[in-house]
This record gives sequence, C-alpha cells and structure tokens, in this order.
Amino acid sequence: MSSAIYPGSFDPVTLGHLDIIKRSAEIFDEVFIGVLNNTSKSPLFSLEERVNMLKEVVSDIPNVRVESFQGLLVEYARKKNIRIIVRGLRAVTDFEYELQLAQSNRKVSPEIDTVFLTTNIEYAYLSSSIVKEYAAYGVDVSQFVPESVVERLKSKYL
Ligand code: ADP
Repeated sequence: MSSAIYPGSFDPVTLGHLDIIKRSAEIFDEVFIGVLNNTSKSPLFSLEERVNMLKEVVSDIPNVRVESFQGLLVEYARKKNIRIIVRGLRAVTDFEYELQLAQSNRKVSPEIDTVFLTTNIEYAYLSSSIVKEYAAYGVDVSQFVPESVVERLKSKYL
C-alpha cells in the first residue's frame, strides 16, 4: 500500500491546498495531512481549528486522514513508516525553498523522498497569507477557500 504525507501549516486551508490533497488522494492509497504545530510561528488559527477545518473539507475523501505533528517532519514520517512527502509547487519562488527542504530531508533520512505536484494554474497565486490579508480587510474570499473556512475567517475578523 502506498502512503504519503502532505505537511503544512494550513493557516487556513485554501482551495490550492485542497486541489493538491485531491490529486494526491488519486495517486496514493492513503494520504495523511500533517498539520504542523510550529511553536515559532503564531498562526491565526489554533492547531485544533486548523485540524478541524481540514477534517471538514476532506470528509468526503475516504483515503485522506488529518493529523497534527510537532518537530521534525522526517521523524513524523519515519514513525508512521511513510516514505513519501508531498509538497505543492506554485512558482519559481517556491522552488528554492522546497528544493532545500527536500534535499536536507533526504540527507537526514535517505529513505524518504519528496514528490512535488505543480499547482493548478487557477490557484498559482494563492497562499494562506494572501487570504488572511484579504479577509482582514473584509474582502470576500469565497473564491479562495472552502465555504466553511469563509465563515471561520469572518468570525476571526469580526
Ligand atoms: P508551509 O508553512 O509548510 O509552507 P503551507 O500551509 O503554506 O505550509 O503550504 C503547504 C504546502 O502546500 C506547501 O508545499 C505549499 O507549497 C503548498 N501550497 C500552498 N498554497 C498552494 C497553492 N495555492 N497551490 C498548490 N500548492 C500550494
């Protein structure tokens, strides 16, 4: 059985993330979304909120599970016996950082590989930060994030 981990902050999940999740779920038998509990960042949504939002939006995809993790991604992958990390590539700007991440991960854990899915052109410009910025100014973000996330953003910026 092929399993993969799609890690990220998902603060909040966007339609770009969801596109990568759906496509990964068609490639791999089982996909774990690993929501990073990063103590050095201060996210808008708590870990619990980010996990719950993701659970809601993937509830109709049977081979996707949502979990949170702390610390090194490769350690989390190793503990779960998963050898594939999925990342999304939007533009050249993502490339350098993602390359560095993938190569250093391989140096630390040679058995783990990173698979990149290029973003759907429709979402190439989309990031969680842009969504938060728009939402903070009261812009309608329903074309960028799932409906349930629109509501949660509204209540954050009331
Ligand atoms: P991180 O903090 O790890 O960058 P993000 O939640 O921002 O976490 O993103 C998680 C993954 O999803 C990364 O691989 C990122 O490149 C990818 N991603 C983010 N936005 C999009 C998008 N609009 N389309 C495709 N992939 C995306």
